[in-house]
Amino acid sequence: MQILAIMRIEHYRYVYFEPQALDYPLGKELYREFSGRDDVEVRYTTSHNRVTGLVTAPPQRAFAAAKRTLVVGVKRSLEFSSCRPSAHYQLPLATGCPGMCRYCYLHTTLGHRPYVRVYVNRDAILKRVCEYIRERSPKLTVFEGAATSDPLAVEPLTGSLALAIEFFAQQPLGRFRFTTKYAYLQGLLRLEHGGHTRIRFSINAQRYIERFETGTLPLDQRLHACRRTGEAGYPVGIMVAPIFLDKGWQKEYHELIKKVALVCGDLPDLTVELITHRYTKRARKNIEAMFPEHGLPMDDAVRSFKYGQFGYGKYVYPGQRLKEAERQFADWCGEHLPHSRIDYLV
Ligand code: SF4
Repeated sequence: MQILAIMRIEHYRYVYFEPQALDYPLGKELYREFSGRDDVEVRYTTSHNRVTGLVTAPPQRAFAAAKRTLVVGVKRSLEFSSCRPSAHYQLPLATGCPGMCRYCYLHTTLGHRPYVRVYVNRDAILKRVCEYIRERSPKLTVFEGAATSDPLAVEPLTGSLALAIEFFAQQPLGRFRFTTKYAYLQGLLRLEHGGHTRIRFSINAQRYIERFETGTLPLDQRLHACRRTGEAGYPVGIMVAPIFLDKGWQKEYHELIKKVALVCGDLPDLTVELITHRYTKRARKNIEAMFPEHGLPMDDAVRSFKYGQFGYGKYVYPGQRLKEAERQFADWCGEHLPHSRIDYLV
C-alpha cells in the first residue's frame, strides 16, 4: 500500500512500533517511512497500551509531546464497545488524535496517555465487524469510527478509512460513520462507498474553534469539505459540538446554522447531531493540569450530574435548558436546512 500523503508525517517526533506490527504490510510501510527520517526518533514498545520513555512533566509539555508521538500497534481486544447514541458499536481503527482541543471528548478516557495509536491488523478488525453484523442480522448494524479518535487526522498515514469504506460498501447490513474536524479527503472522494458510509463534520462557532481547538481546520474549510463529500454522493452530516448554552448562545448558534445552510443547505442527505457541553471530574482535572488558562465553563453548581453508558458520571446542562436548546435548533434547522434531519440532541 502506498502512503497517501506525506504531509502529516512530519508532525510526529517519536514513533513507537510494537514488534508484531512489523509483520503487517502497513506496519512495514510506516517503519520504512519513519525510519528514513532524521527528525524522527524510532522506538519500540511491547504494547501500545504501555509506552515508556515519554515526557511526563510538566503536564503541558507532556501533553504536547504525546500529541507528536505515534504508536503503531496491533489491536488485540476485538470486543467492540457500544456507542450510543450515534451507532451500535465503535470501530477501533485508531486511538487518540494529533489535535489539541481543550474540550476534547478523549480527555476522560485517554487521560495521561493522549499519544496517537494506529492499528495495523485491519483485516482482523473488519473480520470482527462481519461477526457483529451477522449477530444482528437481518437488522442493520452501524459502526462509529470516531469514538476513540479523529480517524481522518491519521488517514494520510494509514489509508484505513478508505479500506473500511470500501469494505462497508459490500455489506448490505452494515453501515459505517465517522466524524472529523479535518479534510484529508483526497483518498476517499472517488471510492465506491455504496452510500453505506456517512461522513460528518464536527463544527462549532468560529470563535470557539479559534479559542479551544488548536491544530484543527477553520469552520469554513470544514463546511466546504462537507459539501465536497456530499457532492461525491456520500451521506453527510454536521455535528455541532460542544454546544455552550451560555449568555448569547442563541445568536451564536443561529448564525452557525445559517452558515451551514449557505454552504451545505442544498445537500440531499444531511444529518445534524447536537452535543451540548459536558465534562467528567477526570476530564476537568486533566484539562486544568494541561491548560491552566483553559477558559472553559466548568462550574458544577450550574450543571446536573448524570451517569453515562460507561459508568462514569458527567456534568451536563439541566434538562430544562436542553429542552430549550432542542426546540431552538429544531426551529433553525426547519427554517434554514429543510432537507436535513436532526438525529439527536444530548
Ligand atoms: S479533533 Fe476531535 S479527537 Fe482530535 S483533539 Fe480535537 S476533539 Fe479531540
